[in-house]
Amino acid sequence: MIYRSTKGTAPEVSLEEAVVKGLAPDRGLYMPERIPTLPKEFFDRLPKMSLPEMASEIAAALFGEDVEPDKLKALTEDAMNFPIPLVKVSDNILSLELFHGPTLAFKDVGARFMARLLGYFNRDNKDRMVNVLVATSGDTGSAVANGFLGVDGVRVFVLYPKGKVSPIQEAQFTTLGRNIEALEIDGTFDDCQSLVKQAFLDKELNDAMMLTSANSINVARFLPQMFYYFYAWAQLAATGADMDKVVVCVPSGNFGNITAGLIAKRMGLPIKRFIAANNANDIFYQYLKTGKYSPRPSVQTIANAMDVGDPSNFARVLDLYGHDHAAITNEISGCTYTDEEIGDTVCDTLEQTGYQLDPHGAVAYRALKEYLKPGETGIFLETAHPAKFKATVEEITGKEVAIPERLAAFMRGEKKSVELPADFAAFKSHLLKMV
Ligand SMILES: *Cc1c(COP(=O)(O)O)cnc(C)c1O
Repeated sequence: MIYRSTKGTAPEVSLEEAVVKGLAPDRGLYMPERIPTLPKEFFDRLPKMSLPEMASEIAAALFGEDVEPDKLKALTEDAMNFPIPLVKVSDNILSLELFHGPTLAFKDVGARFMARLLGYFNRDNKDRMVNVLVATSGDTGSAVANGFLGVDGVRVFVLYPKGKVSPIQEAQFTTLGRNIEALEIDGTFDDCQSLVKQAFLDKELNDAMMLTSANSINVARFLPQMFYYFYAWAQLAATGADMDKVVVCVPSGNFGNITAGLIAKRMGLPIKRFIAANNANDIFYQYLKTGKYSPRPSVQTIANAMDVGDPSNFARVLDLYGHDHAAITNEISGCTYTDEEIGDTVCDTLEQTGYQLDPHGAVAYRALKEYLKPGETGIFLETAHPAKFKATVEEITGKEVAIPERLAAFMRGEKKSVELPADFAAFKSHLLKMV
């Protein structure tokens, strides 16, 4: 498969090059040149398949030309080796719990797949050192750091905004050591993301070391996120629900997760429509309403993994729909909620249904409550375990959230980080010291 840039002015590349480069040299995002459709026979079998089985068939359709079949199957099954249950919350709304992986957030899926794929591409390049740069508002850093921990030939730099991630999130990428370095940036998430973007465009840096991204910019992180849309659909189909009226709602920040779902739909998955749920950072919501895309600095909210002022995968959404605003609004609607509304939703849902939402899932659950039409069934992606936002959730509900042992173990580790200003020159000279 060939990958092309959304800007269309960079050369087309192979999967390996797209993964190793991350961002295209013209600052566009790589997209597969064509989106394969899966046969009806595949969808007939889907309700009886396990997650690793269906993931490896979907992976074969996307990456089969670029990775040896048995290796692709093994690495996909290994990456997807944890449960993703679909849990009924209220009458016509179900939660796809994406938080049963190693760091208890959905980003484990993409990060684990990408780490294994990069490991595969590195097998013939024993001397190659790939430096992964990842900007995080909390969850990406932990998923990527844990996904790549101990992978040969890969070094990971996690950039995170000082004082703006929860202690549990911070512990998950600052206590690992080995090939993982945490960079504590005196600035916002957008500053971190901007430093990473500048690094990819800096000629001197790129000549000195091989750099790639593990944000959802990277196709190897972003595309595998489609696997669980198929799995959600399959689990629902197995219950005998009306499968013509399935609505999927995704709590969105950089829009990698929902874009993977949009591509799943292109591959033939019959999802009726999508809702992109925003917190107060409602840039996409405003785009849907006005047709104008106006990025602006992010504001801090209690769903902080969605505090994004210029969603990087917006370029992919535009690309998928040929920049046609009407086509986009036909398949995707939006919503935006304040912290107060998010908090009320966490509280009310716990009281009325017994289901403990995290603040991100709450944004999406509320959207389904408000916007599902009669006869539709809603699935929302519950992107993180509520314990990852323990302090916030407890303050809202007044009830204790138990910390799973996997998270508690991170908290016992020793924090190690390098403090840097939000300044590209300082960041660059730090990286160059590693060569
Ligand atoms: C990253 C993240 C999101 C947003 O996902 P995008 O792919 O960036 O839209 C939502 N919820 C949680 C918990 C996250 O970590």
